[in-house]
This record gives sequence, C-alpha cells and structure tokens, in this order.
Amino acid sequence: MKPLPIDQLLAIDRQHVWHPYAAMPNNLPIFPIKSAQGVYLELEDGRILVDGMSSWWTCIHGYNHPRLNRAAREQMDCMSHVMFGGLTHQPAVQLAQRLVDITPEPLQQVFFCDSGSVSVEVAMKMAIQYWYNLGKPQKHRFLTIRGGYHGDTFDAMSVCDPVNGMHHLFNQVLRQQYFADKPQIPFWGVWNDSDVASFEQHLIANHDQIAAAIFEPVVQGAGGMWFYSPDYVRRVRELCDRYNVLLILDEIATGFGRTGKLFACEHAGIAPDILCIGKALSGGFMSLAATLTTAKISQVFSHGEAGVFMHGPTFMANPLACAVALESIAILESDDWQAKIQAIETQLKTELEPCRESSLVKDVRVLGAIGVVELHQPVEMATMQTQIVDQGVWLRPFGRLIYTMPPFIILPAELRRITQAMVALSR
Ligand SMILES: *Cc1c(COP(=O)(O)O)cnc(C)c1O
Repeated sequence: MKPLPIDQLLAIDRQHVWHPYAAMPNNLPIFPIKSAQGVYLELEDGRILVDGMSSWWTCIHGYNHPRLNRAAREQMDCMSHVMFGGLTHQPAVQLAQRLVDITPEPLQQVFFCDSGSVSVEVAMKMAIQYWYNLGKPQKHRFLTIRGGYHGDTFDAMSVCDPVNGMHHLFNQVLRQQYFADKPQIPFWGVWNDSDVASFEQHLIANHDQIAAAIFEPVVQGAGGMWFYSPDYVRRVRELCDRYNVLLILDEIATGFGRTGKLFACEHAGIAPDILCIGKALSGGFMSLAATLTTAKISQVFSHGEAGVFMHGPTFMANPLACAVALESIAILESDDWQAKIQAIETQLKTELEPCRESSLVKDVRVLGAIGVVELHQPVEMATMQTQIVDQGVWLRPFGRLIYTMPPFIILPAELRRITQAMVALSR
C-alpha cells in the first residue's frame, strides 16, 4: 500500500468513510494517525500524543507490543483463519482453557464470537433458548438497569439506557425490556437495600416473563461512566436465584483487570450464569469476544427441539485473534497488573482532585485504571477535540464526561500529562 498525500486522504475520508457515531459527511475534526507505539500515538503531521483511551478499553499493554506481534506472526505463518464448524485448533482450545481458568469457577463453556455486541446477542439468545428448552418459552424478556450500554445491534440496543441509547428512534422495532432504576449508591458508599428495590419490584411483577437480568457489574461504561456498589451486584445475584431468572454480566469493558480485579464481578464475590467478554480480550490487537456459561445451562441445549445452540459466526474463533488473546493473557499475568492498576488508581485520584475546584465540574471519580470528570454541561466536541490534541494527549469525551482509561503500562510522567490535560479541559 502506497500512502496517499494527507490532503487527499482527508478529502476521501470526508467523502466516503463513515466514522463511529458520526455524520456523513463528517464535519468534526478528524486526525490522521500514522503509527502507534507503547502509550504513544503518532499523527501524520508528526505530533505525538499520549493515549488516554486504550482505543476504547482494548489496548491494555500498549500498541505494537512485540509479544503480541510475534504471536500473530507465528500464527499467520501457520494459518490465519479456518472455519470452526467441524474443525478445531490449538489457539481456540488453549484460549478456551485459559478463559475457564481465569473466570469464576462455575463458567465452563466458551462460545467465541467476533465482537462485543455479538457476544451480548449470543448471551441473550442462550438465555431465551435455555428457558424454551425447559418448557418456558414465555420467559423471553430481559431485566436491565438504566444507564447501561451493551452494544449497537438490535437486542443489545434494547437493553441499553432507553434515553441515551436513542430508543425513541428505533421504538417500532426494539423489543420491550424491563428497566430498573440506576443504582445510586457509589462504589465506596454505605450499602442500603433500598438501592435494589426497583430491581426486585420488576422481578416480583414479571419474573414469569424474564429470561435473564443483564447489566455491567460495578462499572457502567459508555452509558455514563458510573461506579456503583458491589453490594448491588451481590444482592441482584441472590434475587435472580430467588426468582428463577438467569444472570448475564457484561464485562466487555470491565474485564481483564481494568477495575482492579481481573473481572469486576470479583468485587462482589459472585459469578454470573453467563459472562460476556471482549474489548481487552485480544489486548486491542483485533476484534474478538466470547460468551461463557455454566455446565448447568449448556447441558440443556442437547435436549431441546433444535438439539444445538442456534448460533455460529463465520469467523468464529479466528486463530489469529485467539493466538494473540492467549498471549495477551500471558502478558497480563507476567506483568504484575495489580500493582500497575493500583498505582494508576492512586495517581488518578490525587491528580484529578483539583478538577473539583472548577464550577464546571459536577463530580470526579476514579476506580482502578478509570478516571472520570463529569461536567454540568455537555462538552463542545468541535472545539474540545482539537484542544485535547493541542495538549499532546488523546482523549475522546462524550456528553458531559471527560474520562481516561489508559494502557496499563503507562508511566507516572505520561499519566500526568493526561491528568493535567483533564484538569485544563475542565476549567
Ligand atoms: C463496547 C461494549 C459493548 C459492545 O462491544 P462491540 O465490540 O463494540 O460490539 C458491549 N458492552 C459493553 C459493556 C461495552 O463496553
């Protein structure tokens, strides 16, 4: 591939390339990027930015990691892809074993898929087909909590927050689900059972129709960057058992250490019936996700009408992605990730604290390697994105939130540049 001159690149981009959550043509500033190394992004104009986003939670070990590159290269020389129907291979089997080892004990079966949204669809289909096979086809709805985000495909969208998930736009086609109040007690707050009352009310009234509860444990990500009490998660686990409803946890954003535990459900000491993972699974190298479940659930599938689980993506368990994911988990384990997250958390807490002094700021919160400054008013993206780049960092605010979830390998001086930018931007 011969590089295009930058003005031509930008002209074609504007005319033909649709970016995420963007208008066409895109009128917001866009920055051509040339390469990425460690925590640094290099723009085509030569500017170097410290990355505070880990490419949407994924790139936990930094960019261009030699061990991930080597794993990909070695696998590429063997085979980049092969169908998964009737065939199996080393990377998929070894990765499945690792995932079973590092996730909570009851999770024993791994269904690979290509993106987080698909892993949520798979989880929801699993729950529906599970009850269908048990002779309860009326249990096909879902209970979730407001302020969540689960992806952009239709059923994933149906359990996203109804307001910021734009439900009115797709009202005619989205399945109607049940929405409990957003948990109010913060992560460090004192627990009170009233926080889970709305959730319980929905279960009391509708458990006959509910296949599963689905939500992000402890950290609501793209729906509002809110950190709530692990006791909420613990209580919901008990309630789901009492009302005979499955529990699906979406750890696509929180998985692989981000919150200070390998998986966020460990803060609550509970296990879900179905777990969705993605994002950091391949260390940001390529798209890979998985849905894990328990033997109790999976064994029901061989008895039902179909005799099988009705799902199978074309690129299921792509060997390249699986080989890289396996290596990413190995890096995590050899890297003392817990000490790294702890240090990032401490530094974020100290250095974001001054943001509170600004009258524009409503709240500042930090959990693990996630730092959030919530403003009273939405940011002006047209000007804000350029200001951020001028500060020598890469952040991507949304709504009223300026936030960072840097690669775990970030050094104190590099993180300081991000926090300094966040302080400056919230003035
Ligand atoms: C990003 C995300 C998804 C969707 O994953 P994609 O790979 O973008 O489809 C689902 N749930 C949560 C919690 C996420 O953060």
